[in-house]
Order: sequence, then structure tokens, then C-alpha cells
Amino acid sequence: MKGNLIIISSPSGGGKGTLIKEVLSSTAGIGYSVSYTTRPMREGEADGRDYFFVTAGVFESLIETGEFLEYASVHGNYYGTSRSQVEREINDGRDVILEIDVQGALNVMRAAPEAVSIFILPPSFEVLRERLTTRATETAENLSLRLKNSFGEVALFDRFQYAVINDDRTKATDELRTIILAERLKRDRQTEAIRVILDSFDISKL
Ligand code: 5GP
Repeated sequence: MKGNLIIISSPSGGGKGTLIKEVLSSTAGIGYSVSYTTRPMREGEADGRDYFFVTAGVFESLIETGEFLEYASVHGNYYGTSRSQVEREINDGRDVILEIDVQGALNVMRAAPEAVSIFILPPSFEVLRERLTTRATETAENLSLRLKNSFGEVALFDRFQYAVINDDRTKATDELRTIILAERLKRDRQTEAIRVILDSFDISKL
């Protein structure tokens, strides 16, 4: 059985990174798709762990070779999901989390309608601004671009199947994990295992 493709989006500063890290470290059978990006590496980030940091030239050649399941220009840089990485994970029966922006999310939903989609919302715009400002990872210009873009991003919440409000980290992590685990229990995803059980109900055994 293939793993689930799990799309997670939120505006920048919505806190999805932290929630995803906690879910990954506490849930079996789930991997993370490391994206490619042209944005500069932040302090504390590692190439190949947080992203594959590449030049615009390398990114463009990856587009040409069809390596991206989806890609988009987000807050002034390119970001793309590796098709080969995702396919390897789901074919191995592992779920895979795509932490991508709303444009990428809509593209994956179109290409893979079976994907599970989750939108993470901050409790308010003020909290989002506070988180982004305290994080201090962006230039002033990029920070205001991210805040401006958040309006269009939250407006797309209704295109997602699930919503998690990130007002409390522990609660939001539990909710995210619950969605992922419940999706695995969908009856259709258990057909093979159920078939074996039903086959054991052989009337001649009575
Ligand atoms: P950041 O620069 O803060 O790491 O990410 C900026 C935005 O790009 C976030 O919304 C993040 O989810 C999104 N993003 C990261 N990787 C990808 C990707 O592969 N594809 C798309 N479409 N968005 C991505």
C-alpha cells in the first residue's frame, strides 16, 4: 500500500515548521520532502536537511528535466518539490509531508486529488506579525512582503480539507498527528488487510 501525500500550508510565521518537526519526531512511518530553493540559507539551516539550496541556474535545469512535482515563486524566490524523493517515500509505503505554499498546494491537489491537505492558521494577524518579527530571519523588505502575502494565503483556507489553529503548540501538534493517523485508517486504505481477515472467515471452519 502506498503512503499518503500530505500537503501542509500556512502563511509564513504560521508555525508549521515547528509543528511538523514535532510530528516527524514522534510519529512512525512518515517522512519529509526536502524541497529545492533559490533563497539564501538562514543561520542554523543545513543544506539537504532544510532545503537543497541551489542557484537559479540549477533550479531552471531541474525544471527542464522534470524533477519537480510542483514549483512556484514564493516571496521572491523559487521553491520546488522533488518528484523522485516523494515517489520513493510513498512507494515504500511511508507517508510524506510536503510543506509548501498555497500555490504549490493547489497544483498538487490538481495533480494528485487523493492527497490529504491541511491548512495551519495562526490565531490572529497580530500573532503572525509578532512571530515573524521575533524570528528575525528575513530582511525588513522580505518581512513586509511575507506579511502582505499572508492576506491572499489565508483567504485560500477553504481549498484545504483540514484546518489546524496554531494557538497552542501541544494541542496543534496533537491535532496534526490525529489527522495523519486517521487518514491511514480510511477503510479504502485497508482493503488488502481486511481481505485477508475476511478470507479467514471460512464457513468450513465452523
Ligand atoms: P521559507 O522561505 O520561510 O522557508 O518558505 C517560504 C514559503 O515557501 C513557505 O510557505 C513554504 O511552505 C514554501 N515552500 C517551501 N518549499 C516549497 C516547495 O517545494 N514548493 C512550494 N510551492 N512552496 C514551498
